[in-house]
Amino acid sequence: MHEYSIVQSLFDQIRDTARARGAVAVHRVTIQIGEIAGVEVELLRTAYELFRERTICEHAPLEVEAVAVRWTCPDGHGDVTRGHALVCAVCARPARLAAGDEIVLKQLELEVP
Ligand SMILES: [Zn+2]
Repeated sequence: MHEYSIVQSLFDQIRDTARARGAVAVHRVTIQIGEIAGVEVELLRTAYELFRERTICEHAPLEVEAVAVRWTCPDGHGDVTRGHALVCAVCARPARLAAGDEIVLKQLELEVP
């Protein structure tokens, strides 16, 4: 399942970060998921719960922040309003996706002795 491989790579990142900082435990994991990232948040949570047992994240709750889709003009004329044609109102260039497809490890609360 897609969400399991996401969680797997999340854990790789967390382990590397924790190791680099000499952490003995993780107290909280915060991730950002774009609304069109193609991720089922509930499945992701389920996968996280399965993976975290007997890992450094065993007692770390998972916080998920949703990131809204945002489109913007590639020439810097600012955001293009959602629900309209996805072109810039100033120059009519097709809008570029600026946010909403990301899966990001945003923050870790680490216990460093
Ligand atoms: Zn423009």
